[in-house]
Amino acid sequence: MTVTYLDNNATTAVDPRVLEAMRPFFCERYGNPSSMHSFGGTVARDVARARENLAQSLGASAKEIVFTSGGTEADSTAILSALATAPDRREIVTTRVEHPAVLNLCKRLARDRGYVVRWLSVDRQGKLDMDEVRSRITDNTAIVSVMWANNETGVIFPVEEISEIAHEHGAIMHTDAVQAVGKVPMNLEASQIDFLSLSGHKLHGPKGIGALYVRRGTRFSPFVVGGHQESDRRGGTENVPGIVGLGEAARLCSEGFADHVATMRRLRDRLEQGLMATVPLAHLNGHPEARLPNTLSIGFEYVEGEAILMRMDVKGICASSGSACTSGSLEPSHVLRAMGVPFNSVHGSIRFSLSRYTTEDEISYVLEEVPPIIRGLREMSPFGREYLSAVCTVQ
Ligand SMILES: *Cc1c(COP(=O)(O)O)cnc(C)c1O
Repeated sequence: MTVTYLDNNATTAVDPRVLEAMRPFFCERYGNPSSMHSFGGTVARDVARARENLAQSLGASAKEIVFTSGGTEADSTAILSALATAPDRREIVTTRVEHPAVLNLCKRLARDRGYVVRWLSVDRQGKLDMDEVRSRITDNTAIVSVMWANNETGVIFPVEEISEIAHEHGAIMHTDAVQAVGKVPMNLEASQIDFLSLSGHKLHGPKGIGALYVRRGTRFSPFVVGGHQESDRRGGTENVPGIVGLGEAARLCSEGFADHVATMRRLRDRLEQGLMATVPLAHLNGHPEARLPNTLSIGFEYVEGEAILMRMDVKGICASSGSACTSGSLEPSHVLRAMGVPFNSVHGSIRFSLSRYTTEDEISYVLEEVPPIIRGLREMSPFGREYLSAVCTVQ
């Protein structure tokens, strides 16, 4: 059976052109870019080109890119660097809906190192209250870490505006932009963002590579300490194939940016409208406009998300309930809970996330298969059936 992959916020397919760019760096051009001999030394030029391509796609300069092992390491590097370089500031401002890479690090810093974390709340549509943001950032804030776009709902935060508030108080501004890069236009040079995290495998690059953008002049303390790689900002022999792959993936994202975004948005909107029109008691999670073009999170009342996923899996449809990191446990998503999504809807929430490879036919297939799955599951649940016959006609 062919796979209909609508779980691109969890990971994406490597673009075949990315794989081709990486291929020579395993068995042929495997030299160490720090070597004195030209066999290794020439590889440094390929690393430099990848850094240039990535920087360009962000509106940044190559010197501002530090390659890491992924989004998680970039997040840790940013937050720990800000704390290390401002030892007198004891507070962190972040949101309740961050990825576990930020959320769990902040919880640990509070527990083990006595930092005070100011958790920003979100409203029913997943948006921040800017008055709360202003009141939480003070001269005691070491770092403000606010994601650019949420991985579960796709909701976009006004990170550029928040950076300005952070800087008024001398705090460092970090954004986890793992979901935003390649889907939202960026020009970091024109922003006040100090640190930005991104990850290769969320933008059709390989897994195990990412980067931290470090604005020129930002005080910095390395997280991975070792050799002099990455201008002393991250030790360890460079992941050359990964870096080359990430550079190519970023270049390809920018090359077709407007087309990719338009295609994803059109297909996402078709999926959303189709499901809303055919499935009763379905609710959009997140803001309808301030949202990534590829993400659709829907709460189907009176059904279990896991049951929907299992039945979709039988049909070859891949999606996610909450985030991939929390599925497996039946813990409801911290993001949807923070938004105050009612219990009923949280448990039946499904995230569909598209990519530039998603086709019209795939969306048609999902629109054919998913409504009967929900209907079937609701008919099996005595509570669901009674409730549904009271509030609407179940086809
Ligand atoms: C996937 C993801 C990460 C983690 O990136 P890795 O490269 O898998 O470590 C961090 N933040 C967000 C928002 C993500 O979606």
